[in-house]
Amino acid sequence: MLEELYQKVIAKDPDQPEFHQAVKEVLESLEPVLDKHPELKAEKIVERIIEPERVIMFRVPWTADNGEVMVNRGFRVEFNSAIGPYKGGLRFHPSVNLGILKFLGFEQVFKNALTGIPIGGGKGGSDFDPKGKSDREVMRFCQSFMSELFRHIGPSTDVPAGDIGVGGREIGYMFGQYKKLRNEWCGILTGKGLSYGGSLIRPEATGYGAVYFGEEMLKTRSETYKDKICLVSGSGNVAQYTTEKINELGGKVVTLSDSGGYIYDEEGICDQKLAFVMDLKNVRRGRIKEFIDKYPNAVYTPVDGSIDYNPLWNHKAECAFPSATQNEINAKDAQNLINNGVYMISEGANMPTVPEGINIYLDNKILFGLGKAANAGGVATSGLEMSQNSGFTSWTREEVDSKLHNIMINIHAQALEASQKYGDPGNYVLGANAAGFMKVADAMMAQGVV
Ligand code: NAP
Repeated sequence: MLEELYQKVIAKDPDQPEFHQAVKEVLESLEPVLDKHPELKAEKIVERIIEPERVIMFRVPWTADNGEVMVNRGFRVEFNSAIGPYKGGLRFHPSVNLGILKFLGFEQVFKNALTGIPIGGGKGGSDFDPKGKSDREVMRFCQSFMSELFRHIGPSTDVPAGDIGVGGREIGYMFGQYKKLRNEWCGILTGKGLSYGGSLIRPEATGYGAVYFGEEMLKTRSETYKDKICLVSGSGNVAQYTTEKINELGGKVVTLSDSGGYIYDEEGICDQKLAFVMDLKNVRRGRIKEFIDKYPNAVYTPVDGSIDYNPLWNHKAECAFPSATQNEINAKDAQNLINNGVYMISEGANMPTVPEGINIYLDNKILFGLGKAANAGGVATSGLEMSQNSGFTSWTREEVDSKLHNIMINIHAQALEASQKYGDPGNYVLGANAAGFMKVADAMMAQGVV
């Protein structure tokens, strides 16, 4: 039945391969769940859960510094609101299209359910590329984007956040425009600056959370991060704070990357080097290859797709944290990771491993935390930001970090428990998909056919 359903998903939207991939992964985990819960089949919960509740697509015109009129396309996919208002990031990247946002929105539904916070799933963005644009251009784009989006969102309806290409700067511009149009200050976006309603630890949360999730997986083998060599990809928000937390817990990060290539630093990317990367990426908006100008002992390797694997994943290590983008690890990369001794992978990025790669991890019985469980700390802390905004309060760094840590411990426990319940202990893919699905399915059953 599920294979038939999957074929229908492909036939309906043949040009959305990333969405097909995300649906397939969940459907494959659901066989044992549906066997135990035939009532969900009768109510067509699976058929309903794979269809977004609403998709909004709009024109985003703006003016470049040289006076040229530019046109981008904006989207918001409001996927599922059974357990709370739609919640999920906005991505600004030239690769953005409806299929990518549907994949991200679909994953978000289950991820948000796992956090234990009442938030539904959504995702949005634009094919706008902030790279190489001036601050004023980014501001005009963000204002135009919000001039349409504001009609569709609200603090109890849909609360977007950041994602690739959307950081503090973009959130600030969009928040300002929303406030102006509505004449209302409210927590309409998360990831805000601290001076206007942001939460401490929100910038750190996804990276810290992925490291906390990995820590829980390591504990099942009575291990810690002490002296473990870690491969991290990306050099944006998630990669930076993943590195910071690994350093704090005694591990050693030897790689970082961007879409041009990666650096390998055998001595480890210590806090001082990380501060350089943060300034390079967040302030100067430069390229990771500039790292070797400052630290010549490191090696920079361009990655241009001319070979069929990414050499970043071909170094001796124990742990890996893919933190750049979807499908950044192909089957060969996955095999290289195993061959190099990696036995713990915690995915900071969304769906960074292709399905064949995931099968290689599962066959080798490594500790594998899939994105929708391992990177849920970001959205969970966005949920904490919403709570603080609605209570007109703000919590200390320690309070938020301790709540985040507990949420990650709980997500790990839920996924592990569900993997045992549904017959494959330690398979976090099965466990996270099953646990997230059951929570949303219960709410949908209770609410009738809507
Ligand atoms: P970010 O700050 O914009 O950084 C993205 C990083 O990934 C950059 O180093 C970027 O390099 C690299 N990258 C992006 N597209 C790439 C591509 N096609 N090929 C190679 N490298 C690429 O974004 P982020 O917030 O760290 O997000 C990273 C991942 O984490 C994404 O999968 C996102 O969905 C996921 N995630 C983020 C959050 C969050 O709270 N931010 C939460 C959950 C999951 P360039 O600068 O060269 O593009």
